[in-house]
Amino acid sequence: MRIILLGPPGAGKGTVAELLTVRHGIKQISTGDILRSEVKNGTELGTAAEGYMRRGELVPDSLILKIMENRFLEEDCRKGFILDGFPRTILQAQSLKTILAGLSMKIDAVVNLEASDDLILRRLTSRRTCSNPGCQAIYNIYTKPPKVEGICDRCGSPTIQRDDETPEAIRQRLATYQEKTAPLIDYYKNDPAFLSIPSLTPEPVADEIARLVSERSR
Ligand code: AMP
Repeated sequence: MRIILLGPPGAGKGTVAELLTVRHGIKQISTGDILRSEVKNGTELGTAAEGYMRRGELVPDSLILKIMENRFLEEDCRKGFILDGFPRTILQAQSLKTILAGLSMKIDAVVNLEASDDLILRRLTSRRTCSNPGCQAIYNIYTKPPKVEGICDRCGSPTIQRDDETPEAIRQRLATYQEKTAPLIDYYKNDPAFLSIPSLTPEPVADEIARLVSERSR
């Protein structure tokens, strides 16, 4: 099963992807998580990406494509993958198409998660993330708090508010989304694999995606 998740920051792509990973044993590939771990490890890529990320801007396509170029050949993608946060520009989408065609892989579903600006602001400012780059579990102080405040349930590391989840950075990320990423909806909307669903709670969204994929594979 190969899925692309689209939608603004805070629409719940990460949570839906996590659910699909558990249910179907397919790999979640989040370019945001990959970049945050590169920043944390102080790599060349991390250093190049850090400023863009803090400002809520997109990292240049060339850096992202370098990460993704050979990613699908890795063993953990054998059963499929869910792309969470990639592609984010038309150029990335075109490049993805070329990469997958070269590997004779097809996408089973392109899912757009719909969410209003109000919902996004509320969700992102209440979000906390595990500070351990190898874990990065996501919590919400209202709807999914860790059992012990400020401590990750999964690995015991402190949970933190990300630098790019301040109200100013969020506003910038939403503006960037509207300018660069929202046009992807038009790019994909005539694709038979395209589906747009309101992002309410993750379970019905994951059910709907699984239903669409099984219907299409019949
Ligand atoms: P995310 O966790 O997906 O919201 O990503 C966090 C940040 O990483 C974004 O605000 C961008 O600065 C950067 N980023 C992640 N994925 C991409 C991508 N596909 N293209 C460009 N920048 C990205």
